[in-house]
Amino acid sequence: MTNLRFLNQVPRVLFGQNQFDNLEQIIESKRHDGYIVFMIDEVHNKTGLKDRIPAKDDDLIFDVDTSTEPKTCLVNTYRDEILSIKKGILPELVVGIGGGSTLDIAKAVSVMLTNSGISEEYQGWNLVKKPAVPKLGIPTLSGTGAEASRTAVLTSKDKKYGINSDYSMFDIILLDPLLLKSVPNDQRFYTGMDCYIHSVESIQGSFINEFGKAFSSNAMDICRNVFLKQTGTDSELMVASYLGGVSVMYSEVGVAHALSYGISLELGYRHGIANCIVFNQLDEFYPDHVPEFRVMMKQNQISLPVGVTEGLSKESMDRMIEMTYRMERPLTSALGENWRDILTPQKIQDLYERM
Ligand code: NAD
Ligand code: ZN
Repeated sequence: MTNLRFLNQVPRVLFGQNQFDNLEQIIESKRHDGYIVFMIDEVHNKTGLKDRIPAKDDDLIFDVDTSTEPKTCLVNTYRDEILSIKKGILPELVVGIGGGSTLDIAKAVSVMLTNSGISEEYQGWNLVKKPAVPKLGIPTLSGTGAEASRTAVLTSKDKKYGINSDYSMFDIILLDPLLLKSVPNDQRFYTGMDCYIHSVESIQGSFINEFGKAFSSNAMDICRNVFLKQTGTDSELMVASYLGGVSVMYSEVGVAHALSYGISLELGYRHGIANCIVFNQLDEFYPDHVPEFRVMMKQNQISLPVGVTEGLSKESMDRMIEMTYRMERPLTSALGENWRDILTPQKIQDLYERM
């Protein structure tokens, strides 16, 4: 049983410019006599997207604060609030609108509405017991692949870890490239590089198969068109994000993500930029791709923070090393069963100290 690895994909994908205009039609086809929960990145108070949500009086709209990465406690609070306002009645649909953070919160809330306890209990592999409330994802920032994946990445007190389950996947995603127009250049690059790094790590990982390779090599080529040759469009970037997300499901992330989670957990850097800070130091593991990444940085006028681990206490460094050591699956895929002999605690510390 444990070796069964299905290639799960979101069953319904609506793609194309102006598809957001069809949101009302989709929602009304799902609505019976209940209510819908909308979770939207609060930045869309400024972009005008929030005003376009086709909500009815009984629906709930939450502005999601994404100034930090999604926390388990926030997911628990949303779940409790929804059930308290609606006296235990479940919504008919949860709609997430935003970048990876908002999509993951929407995914996790839909799971926690039907599963008892707290979200911390479900961080891990296949721990979710009951089907979630149906959910619809609408990315407004491309690269994480959260719209495609079966994980909702959350940070709890001592770990950053996904709720990995079939029930965490969206039932429908609406991909409208026009929603990316308002993304600032640096954020577009950092999150876009998440896709590039997913593709590099998954294609180099030993868990990959031919299916996964097809997804990751396509995603990587599109990232090159967008960030290297600068001929790629937002529509292509949106597709790359999806393909990169699927490629990770048929492989794993690798050394960059294993180290990046430590940086986010301890130093609070968001995922995209944390990946870039780490990847920039990994020539040894990704010799063909790190130089290419540096050219892309230059092309897009990106400069990364330096000395991010300077003056860090021993306790902090130890927690970051411990976080990296929790990333067993990615590190096994990247370096083999004996990854601990290669990536010793001292080696991890040396890498962190270069950042
Ligand atoms: P994000 O969602 O954290 O957003 C980053 C910033 O971009 C925020 O300030 C947000 O307000 C802003 N933003 C989003 N859309 C915008 C728009 N259209 N216009 C202007 N600003 C906009 O960033 P992200 O990189 O998409 O997501 C990172 C999160 O995704 C991390 O928590 C990471 O762990 C998670 N992640 C999840 C998966 C998965 O498979 N579930 C994969 C990779 C990463
Ligand atoms: Zn990632």
